[in-house]
Amino acid sequence: MNVAFVDLKAQYQTLKDEIDPAIAAVLADCAFVSGKYARAFEDDFAAYLGIKHCVGTGNGTDGLFMALHGLKVGPGDEVITVANTFIATAEAISWTGAQPRFVDCEEVSYNIDPGQLEAAITKQTRAILPVHLYGQPAEMDPILAIARQHDLAVVEDAAQAHGATYKGRQVGTMGHCGCFSFYPGKNLGAYGDAGAVVTDDSDLISRVRALGDHGSLEKYRHDFPGANSRLDGIQAAVLQVKLRHLDAWTDRRIAVAHRYNEGLADVCQVPVTLPDRRHVFHLYVIRVGNRTELMQHLSDQGIGCGIHYPVTLPLSPAYADLGYSREEFPIACRVADEIVSLPMHADLTDDQVDFVIEQVRAVAG
Ligand SMILES: *Cc1c(COP(=O)(O)O)cnc(C)c1O
Repeated sequence: MNVAFVDLKAQYQTLKDEIDPAIAAVLADCAFVSGKYARAFEDDFAAYLGIKHCVGTGNGTDGLFMALHGLKVGPGDEVITVANTFIATAEAISWTGAQPRFVDCEEVSYNIDPGQLEAAITKQTRAILPVHLYGQPAEMDPILAIARQHDLAVVEDAAQAHGATYKGRQVGTMGHCGCFSFYPGKNLGAYGDAGAVVTDDSDLISRVRALGDHGSLEKYRHDFPGANSRLDGIQAAVLQVKLRHLDAWTDRRIAVAHRYNEGLADVCQVPVTLPDRRHVFHLYVIRVGNRTELMQHLSDQGIGCGIHYPVTLPLSPAYADLGYSREEFPIACRVADEIVSLPMHADLTDDQVDFVIEQVRAVAG
């Protein structure tokens, strides 16, 4: 039995009757960049989150960069983030000219450890950039309290956590702003690159919108040299259709995760959802002692799997010049050697999930 890690073809088949006319409408209008379809999705997504403003961006990485730049983070500044994340989180910091300051994660949730923040704060620190990794919200209350105490901005990387909640609050709405990616494989994915920045701060949102549109909020009036990172009409139309299905897909992801948990908890470390959270399972990540053997077995059986992420970021060549060592990230480094992501998407059938469980049980140790 083949079980895809992510199955975009299956998802498209279930949505074809809604997606095809939505794309045709954009083609008929030729509203390809920004324009009315982009605005309509921005309004829908802001309403879904219960936040005032949303600006569509060319991708999630640009969104993070523009949010930091909009908060006036730049050369000479430091931004604290977690060691185990996708490189985009740190790249966005680097592209502002600021330096990422990495801290270790928590053992249970794999999210940034708020207990490590105080020690990482220096005179140069301007912001904290927590990531809601794998779809589980980070421990926001202590992060927000420390930020408030030290007058730091909080930018949430919600690229993996559309619709996740922490104590009833949507991720992306708790810090000064939140950044989302709509890369095709994300829980809410476009048919190309796309992203968004959300905030209640109207000054910040104007700066982000202008930055992504050549420093301009008015045609041919350029207030500063900006960049080009806008939401396409076609992507917006696809996202508008898909947003209507997001909560049902999330419920299915959670049901799949529960089924995996029940089938696997006695043979490996399964994900732990902390109290007061809605974990949206962008990824379903287990930990085993014999990863190489397990992944080989799964791929021999036609089951897609992956490692998110095999290299702890501060130790990657991209950040070698910062001089970090393994000893500074004992948890992230240990976890990086043991994690495996199993197939996770809303179109998985119970039979597929049971087959994966059976095959993991056959070798996990
Ligand atoms: C996907 C992702 C991003 C970047 O999003 P893109 O749209 O691919 O640029 C940023 N942070 C995290 C944690 C991600 O998973």
